Amino acid sequence: MCGIIGIAGQPGSHVNKMLYDGLLVLQHRGQDAAGIVTCDDDHLHLRKSNGLVRDVFHERHMERLQGSMGIGHVRYPTAGTCSSAEAQPLYVNSPYGITIAHNGNLVNAKQQARQLYLDDLRHVNTTSDSEVLLNVIAHELQKLGKRQLKIEDELYLDVHQVFKAVREVHYRLSGGYSVVGMINGYGLFAFRDPFGIRPLVYGNSVSESGVTEWAVASESVALETLGFEDIKDVAPGECIFISVDGKMYIEQCHSSPKLQNCIFEYVYFSRPDSVIDGMSVHKARLNMGERLADKIMRLKPDHGIDVVMPIPDSGRYAAIQTAARLGVEFREGFVKNRYVGRTFIMPGQAQRKDSVRKKLNPLPDEFSGKTVLLVDDSIVRGNTSRKIVEMARQVGAKKVYFASSAPPLLHPNVYGIDMPARSEYIAHGQSIKEIEKEIGADFLVYQDLDDLIAACTISEDKAHDFDTSCFTGEYCTGDITEEYLQMLELQRNDAAKNGNDDGEPEEIDSMDIHNED
Ligand code: AMP
Repeated sequence: MCGIIGIAGQPGSHVNKMLYDGLLVLQHRGQDAAGIVTCDDDHLHLRKSNGLVRDVFHERHMERLQGSMGIGHVRYPTAGTCSSAEAQPLYVNSPYGITIAHNGNLVNAKQQARQLYLDDLRHVNTTSDSEVLLNVIAHELQKLGKRQLKIEDELYLDVHQVFKAVREVHYRLSGGYSVVGMINGYGLFAFRDPFGIRPLVYGNSVSESGVTEWAVASESVALETLGFEDIKDVAPGECIFISVDGKMYIEQCHSSPKLQNCIFEYVYFSRPDSVIDGMSVHKARLNMGERLADKIMRLKPDHGIDVVMPIPDSGRYAAIQTAARLGVEFREGFVKNRYVGRTFIMPGQAQRKDSVRKKLNPLPDEFSGKTVLLVDDSIVRGNTSRKIVEMARQVGAKKVYFASSAPPLLHPNVYGIDMPARSEYIAHGQSIKEIEKEIGADFLVYQDLDDLIAACTISEDKAHDFDTSCFTGEYCTGDITEEYLQMLELQRNDAAKNGNDDGEPEEIDSMDIHNED
């Protein structure tokens, strides 16, 4: 998972500060690396490194990131690699100087890398699918012929050439991809894969002098907080282009786009104050809570629950509504240390188990002698739930019930969410009763998939399909083979992750535009 942003400000302005602020808002989408590239006339300035946004950009970097147009990226490695050479934005010098920031995962990156080498005479130097994507874009633009971009300040590259190249890009690529990019000195572009798997929105704001500025981002909250308005989703397959002089163009670049956006964005990833494809994430989470409560009433009408508690933070909104629907008190039972990193992406199982305890601490008064229902957004390996149930018992809970607002996770996510190997999922090959026993709960309930889909649907007349592949194993791109899944698992299992993370910060050693250290 990653977060991306692009801003085309008014000529003469500097968008560095806005990009930085936008990346801070998107930080939850990736904490592994961050980067910004700006375009100052026809010069690119880049700063990227491993780390959080606040640690990557210092004053000296910000000063050098001059220019009225720029893009940014926060990274969360999808396939387990943490190499800083793969931090984004990525750059290729030909044609024109192109930079991109990508969120998602290409499922045919290997084949495309080969085609790039053999047919297009382009070398991809990392294992990053985003580098493949960048080179495919570059090649398709180059194929359109030799065109001067700018002659004596007049723009010569027809924007329809860009759209034509994106059509070809869609034709070649398969997977989840939301992309924002820049063509040096010419403009900013953004597009979304034909299923719209990963989110992407755009908006505008009119400056005091009447000039319209444009911005694109993974989540609406990033644009809203920067003061952009009229926020819309980039439709699946659609491409938008904003020229350096602020003109905005939009075109559908796929012959059969079909919205099938990732449902896990609503369950876990996105911020609750974002709206994705017209549906408020907050509202979706409340709906999930309501449907969970209904299921509990069906399975256990005499549940005897005294208190409903969220697992902070992503279980909170579902828990609020579960409590309301059950007519039971909602209480916070755990205090979260917000300065501890995420438990899920800790490399090894031992380290992960240990970090749950450091992250969440129980308030004994809230548990003592009570039947508590703990609500989390999802159960992945089961480390969090097992540890939390144990803590609840230690501080005196009479009975501990556990609810997940997502169904059991069973299949790998291939479109850009970091999920473990199948065998590491707690639900892999186990019944609900077995999982209940393994996490030590007195009662375990998972959301039904139909209910999750209904919870994320705006209204019946606006119903559409979602990518629910990690629950069903059905992949919308239709090209996922067992061989591919096995290759992915080798990259994602704990052994692989331990192998490439020795805790030492890496040197950036990429053949790239000058990275401002
Ligand atoms: P686990 O302890 O492995 O069962 O992880 C469960 C927790 O991880 C839940 O509380 C979720 O909020 C969180 N989670 C779910 N999916 C992901 C993901 N892809 N990356 C990071 N955290 C996740």
